[in-house]
Amino acid sequence: MISIAIDGPSGAGKSTLARRLAADLGYVYVDTGAMYRSIGLYAVRCGVDPHDAAAVEALLPRIKLEIRLLEGTQHIYLNGEDVSEAIRAEAIGMAASAVSAHPAVRAFLLDTQRGLACSQNVLMDGRDIGTVVLPDATVKIYLTASAEARADRRCRELRQKGQDAVYETVLADIRQRDDQDMHRAIAPLKQAEDAIRIDTSEIDFDQSFALLRRTILEHI
Ligand code: C5P
Repeated sequence: MISIAIDGPSGAGKSTLARRLAADLGYVYVDTGAMYRSIGLYAVRCGVDPHDAAAVEALLPRIKLEIRLLEGTQHIYLNGEDVSEAIRAEAIGMAASAVSAHPAVRAFLLDTQRGLACSQNVLMDGRDIGTVVLPDATVKIYLTASAEARADRRCRELRQKGQDAVYETVLADIRQRDDQDMHRAIAPLKQAEDAIRIDTSEIDFDQSFALLRRTILEHI
């Protein structure tokens, strides 16, 4: 089986690029961030502080996650409800980052993630795919961009959706999430030794797509 691991900080364009690349290559796209976001959403809905490791761990037996493909698009179901849209809120991204620091949460998702790569060619994106989940991945990419470039893109995305976006606030959120993701004790975000680093600060989406596609094809 071929597995492509794409890791990197939030807002580097990972999921949009990964989704398109998977479709182009004919691989199954696995968005591991969506799994952490679903757990974050569940904690918030239950009124549980996402930073509270014991309280979040106690919720896990009540959580059932399923990934289904509907007309070529991946949908994630939390206890039978399609939460694919609900998990995209900024506050849920923060909650995801907090719950993802708990070892019990990571262990809960690890088998599911590895299982998905066992029986099919996958392109999996996240923070620890190349380092922890799929250490033997066929190709590992570390996709990054400066915090400023990521904040700029995020603001434009939010404004396109008709939402208010203050650049300084978005930049501060991105820096806080980077800090949480890179400095946690378990599975911190870092580039795997054998990963290829791609920085998209200075290139647009189409250029990033072409560069990633070429890089992957050269290595499989
Ligand atoms: O990629 P996305 O922004 O959807 O991920 C949400 C959060 O989930 C990240 O900030 C990160 O803390 C966590 N995450 C993780 N490991 C992964 C994927 C996501 O810790 N493999």
